[in-house]
Amino acid sequence: MPGFETWGAEERNEVNDVLNTGILMRYGFDGPRKNIWKAKDLENAICSTFGVPYAQLTSSGTSAITTAMAALGIGYGDEVIMPAFTFVASFEAVLSVGAIPVLVDVDDTLTLNPSAVKNAITSKTKCIMPVHMCGSMADMDALKTICDEHHLLLVEDACQSIGGTYHGKHLGTIGDAGTFSFDFVKTMTCGEGGVVLTNNRDVYTKCHGYTDHGHDHAGADRGADLHPFIGYNYRISELHAAVGLAQIKKLLDFLDIQRRNHTVLKNMLAEIPEISFRSIPDPQGDSCTFLSWFLPDQEMAVRVVNIMKEENILAGNFYWFDNNWHYIRKWDHLKNGITLNALSPDHKAAVMFQANKDFSASDAIMSRCISTAISLSWTEDQVKEKGKKLVGAVLKGLNN
Ligand SMILES: *Cc1c(COP(=O)(O)O)cnc(C)c1O
Repeated sequence: MPGFETWGAEERNEVNDVLNTGILMRYGFDGPRKNIWKAKDLENAICSTFGVPYAQLTSSGTSAITTAMAALGIGYGDEVIMPAFTFVASFEAVLSVGAIPVLVDVDDTLTLNPSAVKNAITSKTKCIMPVHMCGSMADMDALKTICDEHHLLLVEDACQSIGGTYHGKHLGTIGDAGTFSFDFVKTMTCGEGGVVLTNNRDVYTKCHGYTDHGHDHAGADRGADLHPFIGYNYRISELHAAVGLAQIKKLLDFLDIQRRNHTVLKNMLAEIPEISFRSIPDPQGDSCTFLSWFLPDQEMAVRVVNIMKEENILAGNFYWFDNNWHYIRKWDHLKNGITLNALSPDHKAAVMFQANKDFSASDAIMSRCISTAISLSWTEDQVKEKGKKLVGAVLKGLNN
């Protein structure tokens, strides 16, 4: 799964270009940088790789979502519908612009359940944010139809699904804006970093300014830039962008390896009739970063997880139901509205109300689900070995 597994000479060479000039900043210093523009080059590579006209790099995936929200005018009083199964970053970004994360149930796609989304729409709803979790996609046709009917914005959190597609379009390029994360454990990495993708020039121009203190970037002299609006510093550095530039050139290879390893593992698990798999709205577009599978019930899932723990083969397998970072069940800080700085009382009350709703429909899915991360470094023998042990643990759990 993570691009860091392939760190090598390509990454070192790109970083050395930057170290040789010492210009670590992405803007300005036109003379001394000797025409080395890693962030610009990476943005261009992203546009051509993913088939999108505009890309704005950021310091992280979280700041990419924040930037997308701000550029689309999402803020005070607005509700953003998002799934109860995601990484904490998704709701952090919504909160950071002053909007209310409206968490709703997932279905067996492990992404937004379109009918749960419909039921959650109110007069305050401004945006639907599907999260393409674990390498695969939400039902984008259904969500797009809902957005069109209700005049809502569509923002894709594609941070975990770089390289995945839906009916031929790259995930992250379908909505009004989309985001990738290039943090250290993502499909391709910059060490830290992220990007906003959009087809809309105005949205891009706002992202460009917002991530650099609101600078309009209109002239050659940074110091003379005007500030049409207030921004922040969510810039990526040249060093980080250099790593990404090496990684994006390997992305197609990463995806090939993932698909190959994923197929071997899936075929082995599919021999067990009690196991079912995540449904995937467009199976051809799965980036195969994870293989996500279901046991018949929670009890069996817990038993299998415990056996995997005992047999020391749990590493790289995720039982999200018990996980602090990815599922509503353990987000006590959100449920209790614990922030370091005060929120407005209305905002806090709305956030807490949304986080404390009934998520039993998601529980019924997540309590049975295990996701196996697909490594880039496995040899074919190693995949088969992993698969054999996994199958052994499952059979032991089922026969108990
Ligand atoms: C990784 C991730 C992010 C953001 O990540 P950063 O670590 O801030 O780059 C956002 N959403 C999801 C679903 C993620 O997995």
